[in-house]
Amino acid sequence: MINKLSSEIHRNAVEKGFYAEQRNLGEMLCLIHSEVSEALEADRNDRYAPSDVGPILELDDAHFKTAFEDNVKNTFEDELADILIRVMDLAGYKQVDLEKHIVAKMRYNAQRIAKHGKKY
Ligand SMILES: [Mg+2]
Repeated sequence: MINKLSSEIHRNAVEKGFYAEQRNLGEMLCLIHSEVSEALEADRNDRYAPSDVGPILELDDAHFKTAFEDNVKNTFEDELADILIRVMDLAGYKQVDLEKHIVAKMRYNAQRIAKHGKKY
């Protein structure tokens, strides 16, 4: 599921022209970080999406765009989605098997000591 979504996200980014020129890995990582900062700012400004965006997803494209911009865009939840979209696009670009890496890391983390031996 995750790899399928990564491929779809990356394919969309290619179609939208984000890969028209050679990508710079450092820039791509910084753009992921910029979305993290946007999530922080959304929280600082108490910008949260409605608890259920299901009804918005049911709208036709024309009404969806307006409803999304009015209720979801630039909220904390929207920025979390942006973080994952950028990470998954990068995984698709670099052909990283994100599913297996997440499973492997979770299994490794489960065997680590509390707080992985750190203060926090
Ligand atoms: Mg954003």
